[in-house]
Amino acid sequence: MSESCCENPQLQWESRRIVDRFADVLACANCRRTHKVEDWAISLPLPMPEQCVNCGGDMRVDTSRSRHGLPERVSACASCGLSGKATRKLHRKLARLHPSGEYLQAAEAASDGGRTVLAFKLATAHLAYVEDHPRARILRIRGLEALGLVDGALAEAWQWFDEGAPSDVLGIIAGLEAARGNLEGTVEALERGLQIDPQNIDMWTDYAEIQAHLDDREGALVSAGYGLGDPDLKQRCLEVVATIGERFYAEDRLEAALEAVNRAGKAKQESVSVSWLTARIAARLKQWEESQAWLEVTLKLDPQHVYARQALERIKPRESKRGGGWFGWLGGTGRDGED
Ligand SMILES: [Zn+2]
Ligand SMILES: [Zn+2]
Repeated sequence: MSESCCENPQLQWESRRIVDRFADVLACANCRRTHKVEDWAISLPLPMPEQCVNCGGDMRVDTSRSRHGLPERVSACASCGLSGKATRKLHRKLARLHPSGEYLQAAEAASDGGRTVLAFKLATAHLAYVEDHPRARILRIRGLEALGLVDGALAEAWQWFDEGAPSDVLGIIAGLEAARGNLEGTVEALERGLQIDPQNIDMWTDYAEIQAHLDDREGALVSAGYGLGDPDLKQRCLEVVATIGERFYAEDRLEAALEAVNRAGKAKQESVSVSWLTARIAARLKQWEESQAWLEVTLKLDPQHVYARQALERIKPRESKRGGGWFGWLGGTGRDGED
């Protein structure tokens, strides 16, 4: 399946809808050649006991079958025709694609590999045959989203929430609302989630980004504060701090800009955006040593930062003379001074 198709093959899985079936398609991102198509029926709704795990159709007793000449009552899907037994067999076979042979582990592995439809199918099987498990629920919701069925994903996430899902699901709902472009719904879901789980720093970080987008500056800075100590969220929170600080800076409100960047505390030194802004604020306040120090931090984080390098070259002689004055780089354009 990895035969070469072009000079620079980049094979990756993507999911596609093919009429009423869904497929994991292995295609080359470079030349667009399709290498493999695995298409499946899937159960879009969570299958209820009398519904087909394979396709979501209704299970009916099929009286036309016989075994050893005797009529046999077999429950079969009115839609795909598979019996309950055949459906179970099919899914067991799919689970065995993973060394563990377990539905959920196989589903996780399929999802990690980009085989969204297979992951969806296996997660559904886990829910139907084994147990209600949050990871399986999330894989289904993520799968629906990846298949472009955002409304279906939202409906399933809300249904789960109503059944008593962990509050994290509100973060997922917020993301789905955002994907639909429903900002109000996003905010509402996050606020509800944070009410239930005020320590959820993932949700605080999502909330901070939305508040920044809505220009709720104080709210954004407060919300961003929660994730600053978390290695996975820190950079996103620092970006929020920098965004708000830049707005104050652009309005010449240097005190407010400085206060904003100082909210980042020690983490200031870990963000190019924040350190570069801090350097410019210090220069505007004629604190040359401070500015130089932050330019050096910026360059340490990003040695390719042309504006910071140019600024440092100009500030050094200036600093030694303790002079003041206006530099063009303060506006962040990197051009020479205009006044
Ligand atoms: Zn190719
Ligand atoms: Zn079926």
